Amino acid sequence: GKSEGRNVYRFFEPGMDAMVRERQVLETDLEAALPRREFELDFQPIMNIASGDIVGAEALMRWRSPARGLVAPDDFIPAAEETGLIVQLGDWALRKACTAAAGWPHAMRIAVNVSAVQLKSGTFTRSVISALAFSGVPADRLELEITETVLMDESDTVLKTLSQLRDLGIRIALDDFGTGYSSLGYLRRFPVDKIKIDRSFIRDMDNRDTAAIVRTVIGLGAQLGITVTAEGVETEAQLDMLREAGCVEAQGYLIGVPSKAADINRLLRSAAAL
Ligand code: C2E
Ligand code: CA
Ligand code: CA
Ligand code: CA
Repeated sequence: GKSEGRNVYRFFEPGMDAMVRERQVLETDLEAALPRREFELDFQPIMNIASGDIVGAEALMRWRSPARGLVAPDDFIPAAEETGLIVQLGDWALRKACTAAAGWPHAMRIAVNVSAVQLKSGTFTRSVISALAFSGVPADRLELEITETVLMDESDTVLKTLSQLRDLGIRIALDDFGTGYSSLGYLRRFPVDKIKIDRSFIRDMDNRDTAAIVRTVIGLGAQLGITVTAEGVETEAQLDMLREAGCVEAQGYLIGVPSKAADINRLLRSAAAL
C-alpha cells in the first residue's frame, strides 16, 4: 500500500515491540545454553546410490532447552549468527562431529554446516585444524557445507579461508543448490567438491520440468567432476529416478532420519554384519 515506503513507523507498531523483546530473550537464553551444554548433534546418513553403502553423515544441531523444549536449528541459528555466538557454537559442533566420526569406518565422511559468520571470523581455519587434530580425523574425511549466501558477499576473508581449507584437503559442499540467485555463477567463482540439490527440487520431481532440472544438475556435476547429492529423498520412486539419472549420493528420510551418534554406530555395525 501507500504507507509501504514509510518503514520507520513499523518500529512503533504494537506487535513489533513484543517481537523485538522476544528476540532479545531468545538471544540471552542462547548465550547461557552453551555453557549449560544444552546443544546436541544428530547425524543423518548419506548413501552412495550405486553401491548402497553409507558413505557419510551430516551433523545437524539441536537445542534442548529446558524452557522451550527441543528447538530446531532454523529457529535459533539466525539469532546465534546475529549475536556472533555461532562462532563458538560452530567450533563446538566441529569438534563434536569430528570426535563422533573418529569411531566410524574410515571411508565415511563427516559433513558439518558452516555459517558465513564463522567463515568471516578469521579464526575458522585454526578451529578446523584444531578439531581435526583433537579427534584424529584426517582432513579428507571432513566436508564443510556452505550455502550460496556464503559466496554471495564475495569477501576476501571468505574466499581466502575456503581456499586454505581446500588446500588442507578438506572438501567443500555447496548446500541447498538451486535455491539462490546465481547458483551457476558461484560454481565458476569458487571450485567446490560437491553440490547438494535442495530438497524442494527432489520433492517436486514428479513434475516433468523439475525432473529435467534435476537431471541437468546431475549431468552438470558429472561434467565438472563434482559429486552430486540429492537432499530430502523420501520415496523409492524418487530414489529410482535419481539412480537412473546417475546421481551419486542420496540423503533423506528414506535412507535414514537424523539420529543420535550411538544409533548411527549401531546402523553401521548391522550393515557391516550383512
Ligand atoms: P540443511 O543443511 O539443508 O539440512 C537438511 C535439513 O533437512 C535438516 O533439517 C534435516 O533434518 C532435513 N531433512 C533431511 N532429510 C529430509 C527429508 O527426507 N525430508 C524432509 N522434509 N526434511 C529432511 P534441520 O536439522 O531442521 O536443519 C535445518 C537447517 O539448519 C539445515 O539445513 C542447516 O542449514 C541449518 N543447520 C543445522 N545444523 C547446523 C549447524 O551445526 N550449523 C549451522 N550453521 N547450520 C546448521
Ligand atoms: Ca546442510
Ligand atoms: Ca541443504
Ligand atoms: Ca537448508
